[in-house]
Amino acid sequence: MKISYQAVTDVGRKRKGNEDSLFVNAEQNLFVVADGMGGHAAGEVASRLAVDAINEFVCLTGDDEEITWPYGLDETISYDGNRLKTAIRFANRKVLEATKEKSEYEGMATTVAAVLVDGDVANLGHVGDSRIYLLRDAKITQLTTDHSWVNEQIVGGMISPDQARSHPLRNVVTRALGGKNDLQVDMKVHKIEPGDMLLLCSDGLTTMMADDDIAGVVAEAKGDVEKAARGLVASANARGGEDNITVVMLRFEE
Ligand code: CA
Repeated sequence: MKISYQAVTDVGRKRKGNEDSLFVNAEQNLFVVADGMGGHAAGEVASRLAVDAINEFVCLTGDDEEITWPYGLDETISYDGNRLKTAIRFANRKVLEATKEKSEYEGMATTVAAVLVDGDVANLGHVGDSRIYLLRDAKITQLTTDHSWVNEQIVGGMISPDQARSHPLRNVVTRALGGKNDLQVDMKVHKIEPGDMLLLCSDGLTTMMADDDIAGVVAEAKGDVEKAARGLVASANARGGEDNITVVMLRFEE
């Protein structure tokens, strides 16, 4: 599968700094978005540490299958699934270690949404409220389930997705890297069809735009990943740009 992609991160219109980080390693077919949290620029440190650590582990396991797996192998998922899952847990350890190194890093944390592509299979891994969407035939499907307080309320039937986007507690995540040692990583496999597009994004996009609005902007770009990615960031900013906005848009061709 041939992959075209465009990655964009933007500070938005309200925040002073950008605590989001993104990483693309085209050689390994690795794509990562992370959204950091913590005062005094610590969120930025957490998200950067996480994406770098994920890339480091994925590169390390790319050509050496004899590597020891620090958390054991998960028999229920593929080799590449294990690479990505372990990379995210490895990143969690790196962030956790850093929180103990400096007092200003105490309490910092980050979300992660990551894709590692192998042939026509996309391995998806995520923690927190950064999302991965599939866009296929003008239809948008969220492939990840947010680890957030508002999502728990939606599942419980207490609030609607529209209410969640403007809820005062919309930024509260229930799972993040940097929290505790035995981090649970949600893993999923997506079977790619030619023409599929995947969107990785931070909540600075999804708190500003409903799924249908996102699908509309992507449809307008007619498969042009650069136009789609830049259009999404521009739309989120036009609606207020209250948070940092990060998008990685992928398109697959035979
Ligand atoms: Ca955010």
